[in-house]
Amino acid sequence: MIVILKKGYDERQLDELRRWLVNEGISIQVNAGVQSTVLGLIGDTSAVDLDLIEALEIVETVKRVQEPYKKANRKFHPADSTVMVGDVPVGGGHFAVMAGPCSIESPEQLCVVAEAVKAAGAQILRGGAFKPRTSPYAFQGMRESGITLLLEAKKQTGLPIVTEIMDISHMDAFAEVDLIQVGARNMQNFELLKELGHCKTPILLKRGLSSTISELLMSAEYIMAGGNENVILCERGIRTFETATRNTQDISAVPVVKELSHLPMIVDPSHATGFSRYVKPLALAATAAGADGLMIEVHNNPAKALCDGSQSLTPPQFEDAIGAINKILAAR
Ligand code: PEP
Ligand code: MN
Repeated sequence: MIVILKKGYDERQLDELRRWLVNEGISIQVNAGVQSTVLGLIGDTSAVDLDLIEALEIVETVKRVQEPYKKANRKFHPADSTVMVGDVPVGGGHFAVMAGPCSIESPEQLCVVAEAVKAAGAQILRGGAFKPRTSPYAFQGMRESGITLLLEAKKQTGLPIVTEIMDISHMDAFAEVDLIQVGARNMQNFELLKELGHCKTPILLKRGLSSTISELLMSAEYIMAGGNENVILCERGIRTFETATRNTQDISAVPVVKELSHLPMIVDPSHATGFSRYVKPLALAATAAGADGLMIEVHNNPAKALCDGSQSLTPPQFEDAIGAINKILAAR
């Protein structure tokens, strides 16, 4: 349920309303916007008399919210949210590009790629240390030592870093990570999401391979319900009947999610397509559709990459893509 207050409402009357609702076991989220102040009522509001609240002097309107996600819902928080990743804002009009290798392979590889993506204009460095691989025989990532290298690259370039967590027992290694990624395969690992709700680090939540937009928002709700409201969503392609690309980039997810939620929404055209030649056109499409940022895989030698080489851009290809993305941004 949401309650929209009248402009210039009396604070004492709001306190009274708050006390009453808290007594009913309902928690309240206050969003003071420029146009209006919105109270988001969370909990079992079925017993709350809508007419009684509407009759209060300070209340403009009351609406029941049908969607099961509350904190992630734009109705609760009409303005776009901005999530700070280190000193880089994402969302609320701030577009951010996250780029780097699929997996961290060596100090040399990470150093070359980190410097290259920074020079081309990326604001956040990505690199997988714990890798969710389909085959148990495939390279599983450098794990903790990969994060150590990522932290060194952060120090060297000044770029904030994003890397994927697969299990909460690894959390200690993520203490200095600026943005913790929950990968597609873990989007509905609810125990992991609950634990991440108790930390303060922003979370990049990628859409599951076969998840609906509503399920994506419910997973964001798990993190937010625990107290961590710094969530960035990511469309990374979904499974369809099409086999020409690794996944199908659901471009409509961008305007749909941005309508339903205030959270920043970025797109990962690398995993969505699986082929480097399609990454630039789909990055441009995502930017034109209104995405708040992009995540792009870049490798200094894609042919020799230990993971996802076929979808990785070389540094010059990345620079070329950024030039084109900037033209779309200027036209938005
Ligand atoms: C990744 O970003 O390297 C990754 C594994 O992504 P996803 O979870 O979207 O497959
Ligand atoms: Mn990858």
